[in-house]
Amino acid sequence: MKVDRYPESPAEPTACLTLDLEPSFDVGSPAVRRQVFHHLDDYIERFQRRDLPVSMFVVGRTVETYPELIRRLDGALDVEFHLHSYSHDMSGEADIEAEIRRGVEAFESVLGRTPVGYRAPRYIATASDLEALSAAGFAFDSSICPSYRPGVYDHLDKPTEPFYPAVSPDLLELPISVHPRLRVPIIQSFLKLLGRPYLRLLERSSLPNPLIYNSHLHDYYRTDAHDMLSPFKRLLFSRNMADSFELFEQFVDLLEDRNYRFRKLSDVAATLSETEGSASVVSPRN
Ligand SMILES: [Zn+2]
Repeated sequence: MKVDRYPESPAEPTACLTLDLEPSFDVGSPAVRRQVFHHLDDYIERFQRRDLPVSMFVVGRTVETYPELIRRLDGALDVEFHLHSYSHDMSGEADIEAEIRRGVEAFESVLGRTPVGYRAPRYIATASDLEALSAAGFAFDSSICPSYRPGVYDHLDKPTEPFYPAVSPDLLELPISVHPRLRVPIIQSFLKLLGRPYLRLLERSSLPNPLIYNSHLHDYYRTDAHDMLSPFKRLLFSRNMADSFELFEQFVDLLEDRNYRFRKLSDVAATLSETEGSASVVSPRN
C-alpha cells in the first residue's frame, strides 16, 4: 500500500485495548449470535477491577437493537465508542457508502455524536473504503491487520505502524499490532489460540508502540454459536477458552512491566496527528 507519510511514534510506550462489539460469528439465529452479550456484566467487572480504558468498535445494527447495552457500558467503564460498520457483512460485497451512512445514523441516534474512528469487518479495508471513510469525515481507521490469513487477506505489504495512506492522506490508519518479526497478530484470539508459548515469546520480544490490541467478546466467552462453527473453526475458537481472561491479564501485566501506558485510541490518534515523521515517504518502511 502506498503511504503518504508516517507520524512520529508516541513519546512513551502506549497501548490501546480495543473490543469489536458484535454478535458472534456468522452462524445460527440472531438470538444465538447475540448470546455473548449476556456476559457483559462479567466483562465490565473485570475491566473495572483492572481500571483499564477500552475503545469499542460497535456494529451499527447492534447499537440500534441494544441502545441500553451501549448506555450501560458507557456508564460503567472508561470507554469510548467508534463504528464497526452497520451490518457487519462478512461477504465483502456490502456497499461501503451505505454501511457508513446507516452506521453513522445508528451511532448518532444513540450516542448523540458523530463517530471519529472506524474499523471494517474481517480486518479488510480497501483503498476505496479508505477514500469513502475520509470523504465521510472520519479522523482515523483501525482496520488493517498487517499479517496473513489464508483465504481471507494478505496484508504483508502493509505498514505495521500508524500511517497516512496515499489514497486518503487525511485519514490516519492505526494498524492492529503484529509481532514485529513474525507478523503474528497481537490480539486476544491469537493469544488464546497459541496460549502460554506465545505469551513467553512476547515477553522476549520488542513490542510495537503504539500497541493496538484487539479482542471480541467471543474470545472470552463460549456460547452456543461456537458449537455451530465448522469443526476446524470450533477447535480454533474454543482452544484455551477457560484461560482466556487469565492470559489477557498476564499480557496486561507484561505491558505494565514494560511501562506501557493504557490510553484510548482517539487520544493516541489526536497525539499522532499533531506530529509529523521526519520525512514523507511513498512506500512502506517495512
Ligand atoms: Zn467484527
